[in-house]
Amino acid sequence: MKSTPALLAILGALLFTVGCEVHVVRHEGQPPPPPPPPCRTCNGSGATSCATCGTKGVVMVSVNCSACAGAGAVNCGSCKGAGAFACAKCEGSGEAMEVGVGKVLKVKVQCNKCQGHGRLACGACAAKGKIGCSPCGGSGKVAQQAKCHACNGSGRTVCATCKGAKH
Ligand SMILES: [Zn+2]
Ligand SMILES: [Zn+2]
Ligand SMILES: [Zn+2]
Ligand SMILES: [Zn+2]
Ligand SMILES: [Zn+2]
Repeated sequence: MKSTPALLAILGALLFTVGCEVHVVRHEGQPPPPPPPPCRTCNGSGATSCATCGTKGVVMVSVNCSACAGAGAVNCGSCKGAGAFACAKCEGSGEAMEVGVGKVLKVKVQCNKCQGHGRLACGACAAKGKIGCSPCGGSGKVAQQAKCHACNGSGRTVCATCKGAKH
């Protein structure tokens, strides 16, 4: 990197020289043809920012949620989608054998765990058997980034006014 200041000095000298020459030529009455004015739409750049993606080159698209296949809900993992469990106490019969304290008598009574239904509502899914899909928030759709087709991902489109000619 020792040569950098020297290089800069040479470059500076060159630019200075060129600048002087242009100056001299103009004074000799041979002005170069004036350049055409730059395109006002694109400011002479030949391109404008993509209106579709706002120069980002990517757009958000809505796609079916892969977790729930677009349904917005998935089977409850606790009850396997049934919405209820068979009551473990009465094994689904709704009746339980109660043994009275100090008595040998056995009576069939309504199972107090399931109120005789034989099934217990699944608390995880409020007995619906389905729970809202969390990746998509129950909407069945998720936003995904995709390349902007309008600008092919560049974020810029060819200026419509000058067709990229810049003037
Ligand atoms: Zn775009
Ligand atoms: Zn989902
Ligand atoms: Zn459930
Ligand atoms: Zn029961
Ligand atoms: Zn233009």
